[in-house]
Amino acid sequence: MATLEIHDLHVSVEAENGAREILKGVDLTVKQGETHAIMGPNGSGKSTLAYSLAGHPKYTITSGTVTLDGEDVLEMSVDERARAGVFLAMQYPVEVPGVSVSNFLRTSATAIRGEAPKLRTWVKEVKAAMEQLQMDPAFAERNVNEGFSGGEKKRHEILQLELLKPKIAILDETDSGLDVDALRVVSEGVNRVREGGEVGTLLITHYTRILRYIKPDFVHVFANGRIAESGGAELADQLEAEGYDKYVKGGA
Ligand code: ADP
Ligand code: MG
Ligand code: MG
Repeated sequence: MATLEIHDLHVSVEAENGAREILKGVDLTVKQGETHAIMGPNGSGKSTLAYSLAGHPKYTITSGTVTLDGEDVLEMSVDERARAGVFLAMQYPVEVPGVSVSNFLRTSATAIRGEAPKLRTWVKEVKAAMEQLQMDPAFAERNVNEGFSGGEKKRHEILQLELLKPKIAILDETDSGLDVDALRVVSEGVNRVREGGEVGTLLITHYTRILRYIKPDFVHVFANGRIAESGGAELADQLEAEGYDKYVKGGA
């Protein structure tokens, strides 16, 4: 069973007036099959955590450890992390000019599985996954993220999730900018992947809305660059009612 362990993680970014510490000692363990919601106010460092786990070069790990089944994730390149089974769906995904969705997915799958998926079964796999996400087949021929609407970007991410079958999936604000119908389709996709029991999910969100569709096993309140409180799903209800004020104002 895969386990991602984050211990006392400190991360800085280079700002105009020197390095600035954003993550100030994050501790978190995510096991395959579990869903953890990370909730917190804007600017608390949630995306920084996601990018740091994925290996974004802008974020400097100043101390702490991240391991996947005991293997040092921080020593791995971005590609190695993906191959080890760490998947990040970004809050602001980038365009990949000249690369179609279908080629992008096949290249990613090849990198992660270590061999190219058999073309015939692959085409069927992609088609089935796209149908479930209510995506137009023509979408496969479009260039990655080029002119995608908010909903299309998110569906494309969940499509990757379904096809690439990571061990640890980090979903950063997958709910942002989705209307209710798109949110339902995207959530159903996440739940399908979850039902396999093989993915550990880190669901990063500002709002409790998506948690009506995706039930977390654990909820963590993120404030000022660290986890201020952890609990079960009931903690999300409490946040819905009370907001983040008590955490932001130096409370917890
Ligand atoms: P959240 O996702 O919780 O809204 P972020 O991780 O995006 O928070 O940002 C946390 C803080 O770090 C913010 O003050 C933000 O301005 C700063 N920050 C994040 N990334 C960068 C960066 N690449 N360069 C400079 N500052 C950054
Ligand atoms: Mg933000
Ligand atoms: Mg963010």
